[in-house]
Amino acid sequence: VTASQSDCIFCKIASGDLGVPFVHESAGTVAFLDQAPQAREHILVVPKQHIVSVDELTRENDELLGELFETARRAAVLRNMNASGYRIVTNVGPDAGQTVFHMHLHVVGGEPLGHFGK
Ligand code: AMP
Ligand code: ZN
Repeated sequence: VTASQSDCIFCKIASGDLGVPFVHESAGTVAFLDQAPQAREHILVVPKQHIVSVDELTRENDELLGELFETARRAAVLRNMNASGYRIVTNVGPDAGQTVFHMHLHVVGGEPLGHFGK
């Protein structure tokens, strides 16, 4: 791996080296709990491969993208968020407030959320 990837916290978590428990794992993705939950349930879904953000995706990543959403859906079921509903968010760059530069889906729910944009 490159120097930047060896410094990436989500690369380290996804590799299993930090011993962070996974809510779900697939061949190319992992889901784990956010350390500072913004709702009763807050899961992060990341590719094992280092991708900075959605801005870096190409059609080469189509299969991985499907896998990320499948992992998000499975994690929502495992955390009992699916019947009542949940939200999937991914921040891209400064205006969105992205703080970890390894692409991730936030899966939040477990309680009613304010309508996005209001
Ligand atoms: P973003 O602001 O969209 O880049 O989201 C980064 C998210 O990663 C935040 O919700 C943080 O709470 C979460 N986070 C950062 N470091 C860790 C970590 N070591 N384990 C779990 N969640 C983390
Ligand atoms: Zn990374």
